[in-house]
Amino acid sequence: MNCEICGAFEENLLKTEVEGAVMNLCKSCSKYGKVIGESDPGYKSFSIHGESEKQLKENYIQAIKDAAEQKGLSINELADRIKCSPKDLEKIVKGQIMPNNEISVKLERFLGISLYEMDYVSDANFKTHVEKLSFGDIVDIKRTKK
Ligand SMILES: [Zn+2]
Repeated sequence: MNCEICGAFEENLLKTEVEGAVMNLCKSCSKYGKVIGESDPGYKSFSIHGESEKQLKENYIQAIKDAAEQKGLSINELADRIKCSPKDLEKIVKGQIMPNNEISVKLERFLGISLYEMDYVSDANFKTHVEKLSFGDIVDIKRTKK
């Protein structure tokens, strides 16, 4: 697991309470807060970075429908333009399945919309970000993501 502040990899992180937020931190970062124990093995680390962590917007379905409507396209026509199966696209706009990466990229490009949360940042960006942020800012990011 990686420390949630500095990103250092450590086998066992310390569960640390920092200003009310519980974070998994390495030894040197745990001094910023109160250590409450070892991190749970099954604890899914909080993350705002990484390709697989991209968060679809809550209203992405509506965004797709609105944008298609603006272009005067039905779902079938839209599927045809972006070369995906109309059945799949129908399921996506009904919320039955999530658009996979390929389809969502095509939708974003074709419709000129963004289906993902804007605060998505790549891993590299996140790290440079961390260097610029004060410690308090990082705790705030964690809080707002809850
Ligand atoms: Zn650390």
